[in-house]
Amino acid sequence: MHSFIESAVIAIIITQVAIMVTTIYLHRALSHRALRLGKVTTFAFRAILWITTGIVPREWVAVHRKHHAYTDVIGDPHSPVVEGFLLVQFANVYLYRKAAKDKENLRKYAKDLPPDRWDMALFDRPLLGLGIGIFALFILFGPLVALLVSVLHMAGYLMLSAAVNAIGHTFGDRPHDNLATNNNWLAILTCGEGLHNNHHAVPTAARLSFKKAQIDTGWWTIKFLENIGQATLRVPRPKVASSTAS
Ligand SMILES: [Zn+2]
Ligand SMILES: [Zn+2]
Repeated sequence: MHSFIESAVIAIIITQVAIMVTTIYLHRALSHRALRLGKVTTFAFRAILWITTGIVPREWVAVHRKHHAYTDVIGDPHSPVVEGFLLVQFANVYLYRKAAKDKENLRKYAKDLPPDRWDMALFDRPLLGLGIGIFALFILFGPLVALLVSVLHMAGYLMLSAAVNAIGHTFGDRPHDNLATNNNWLAILTCGEGLHNNHHAVPTAARLSFKKAQIDTGWWTIKFLENIGQATLRVPRPKVASSTAS
């Protein structure tokens, strides 16, 4: 029982860190160029992403930009309108892999992200990154906790990432004129990503919360990085087209 609680706490921390890096680095900085990160932070984020998710950034960016180009119509890699809610919520990783392997897609949507020497040596090798992450858990906490943390983290990260695509295009508020939705509870669990209707309204905004009551911890972290000289915003204050925003 003690091992399970310890594992659950460690897994929650790792999942939250991985989601924070996903939203700030993969989503807001790389995919939408809403901000630029400093060299040290960029390298740290690449390394964290590599050992906690094995995601290849240019693949994630290509899939995500295609999602914005074909939102909720044929061509969207993970739309609950096209694929059905259950498939996107529970098999998002399958839909993601299918789109990520599409070379034409990569050429079209991620040509600004050619592999550099670090990608070639390390970051383009997902299994090596995940292996190092699991090995580190093994050394730090032993085999049982390493196994439990790996399983819980994988389930948590995949379910929450899927929820942004599935719940975030199905249930919740739509203050702006697009099919994505805002869910504050999901935003709390996903470092701001649950404010997905706001995001589709202004994809180039580094800040996903448009109102005081909306929680975007990704934005708080970006403000911190800005204060220590590790982040520069492209659009200081997002302009929202819809009149219902405040
Ligand atoms: Zn979306
Ligand atoms: Zn986006």
